[in-house]
Amino acid sequence: MHAQSVTLDQVWSWLGEVPDPEIPVISVVDLGIVRDVAFDGDECVVTITPTYSGCPAMQVISDAVGEALRARGVDKLRIVTQLSPAWTTDWMSETGKAALKGYGIAPPVEQAIDISGLRSGVKRGAFKEPEVACPNCGSTHTQLTSQFGSTPCKALYKCLDCREPFDYFKCH
Ligand SMILES: [Zn+2]
Repeated sequence: MHAQSVTLDQVWSWLGEVPDPEIPVISVVDLGIVRDVAFDGDECVVTITPTYSGCPAMQVISDAVGEALRARGVDKLRIVTQLSPAWTTDWMSETGKAALKGYGIAPPVEQAIDISGLRSGVKRGAFKEPEVACPNCGSTHTQLTSQFGSTPCKALYKCLDCREPFDYFKCH
């Protein structure tokens, strides 16, 4: 099979089956990492944007995307990593946000959170904490326990009502 006989819709649906390596219940398409699919002549060009620059999972995602498409016979393939415009949670689909919640991870609540304090090491006071709802009971009576959860993309929270700890997907 040559790339010419493959439609963009097919490529998108195949990519929709590629799970995010950190959160396997959500696909790289629903997460909004896949920005664009196009054909340049007979070469398939997939543009991906990391959830934040330096995201350690990016190489894994790039490899998984390449494997999934080559397995379908797309052998002329180029994967472009595009850092700008930066990924925001707006790119995550509603399906993706619902899947996150079902997995016990609180989805990102707002895209305008100032995390400059996190990046530059400015004092904690500069960090506006989002109101994060507990994925178990829905309570917003939650507390940040650690800026870093099981992966750098997540913060660890604790619900003060049901006492369950949970991950909050914070990268944006
Ligand atoms: Zn709770």
